[in-house]
Amino acid sequence: MARVEFRNIEKRFGDVTALLDINLTIEDGEFVALLGPSGCGKSTSLFLLAGIYMPTDGEILFGGHVVNEVESRDRNVGIVFQSYALYPHMTVRNNIKFPLRFQAGAADLDQRVEDAASLVHVGELLERRPSQLSGGQQQRVALARALVKRPQLLLLDEPLSNLDASLRLTMRTEIKELQKQLGVTTILVTHDQMEATTMADRIICMRDGQIEQIGKPDDLYLRPSSLFIAEFIGSPPINLLEGHAADGVLQINGVAFDCTAQAAGPVSVGLRPEHIAFADRGLSATVAHVEPMGREVLYVLDSAVGTLRVLQSGSSILHQRGETVSVGFNEENTLLFDRGTGQRFADARVRVAGAPDAG
Ligand code: ATP
Repeated sequence: MARVEFRNIEKRFGDVTALLDINLTIEDGEFVALLGPSGCGKSTSLFLLAGIYMPTDGEILFGGHVVNEVESRDRNVGIVFQSYALYPHMTVRNNIKFPLRFQAGAADLDQRVEDAASLVHVGELLERRPSQLSGGQQQRVALARALVKRPQLLLLDEPLSNLDASLRLTMRTEIKELQKQLGVTTILVTHDQMEATTMADRIICMRDGQIEQIGKPDDLYLRPSSLFIAEFIGSPPINLLEGHAADGVLQINGVAFDCTAQAAGPVSVGLRPEHIAFADRGLSATVAHVEPMGREVLYVLDSAVGTLRVLQSGSSILHQRGETVSVGFNEENTLLFDRGTGQRFADARVRVAGAPDAG
């Protein structure tokens, strides 16, 4: 197991800068997700850790030791690729055994293969070939192969993206449990924010080859550092209302809000859908759409400040399409962003002038 560090890491491919000045530490035994849109540098980071790529600049450390010059095969890193990358001509047993090929002759190799297989519940499938397995079973075999060397670092590159929705849920839980049981430092690459928030202890959110924010899932959700994170994390998406701030007053489409921040100029107010509630008094709106979502109901409202998505817990439908309603929000839950820089004003609060909190 290892603590992993990137110090001033830069990676260029010709003219393309894939990673720029990346500094991060992943603690021993931690489960971290690298999250971000396509092309932001997630896989490049993973390949640097695996020793498949060399950094253009900077240092990579495992357990306090620089590993830049250490060959991939000597890093003891297990990796699961999106495509599984199993050898089609080999049995499951030989696929799982493959990373142990340099230890030929060691006494317990067969036992280690069987232990790894049973850990991910493919102990009954050892004599089959990959073509005789379902997608989920292939994924488990890829996981067993990554774990058979008892790696100090486990790298997961979009491991669930080829699975159907229900299997993805099952595997999410299983991988998380397995990681806890083994205590192996794990880095998951994903562009799926649900996967990152449900599986990882911390999320490293990347954008254009740089780190945008590092934090616990709740930090990114409730205190996003930027508009980019606020929009990227959360489903249904955050409500973003565009306005203009001056002297502690924020105007959105002619509706005045009190605003505690030192904000001036174009701003966006962010409100999570579950932080808006129906109230006796507040902002007036018309129900445009009602979407039952099982244990919650999503309402889409037309209001003077723009479209508002409101998520109400419980399965009962309280308001019908076309109905006029009032909504409010607790100022504690408001987020305020500078539209020019995209950055959030820390501790800023917004409330409808004269309206009560609806919590
Ligand atoms: P995705 O989610 O689509 O896999 P990603 O976040 O993993 O994206 P990377 O694959 O790390 O992104 O790519 C980061 C940037 O580096 C992109 O602009 C990509 O085009 C570029 N890049 C990656 N590998 C190479 C390469 N071998 N040669 C040239 N450019 C590359």
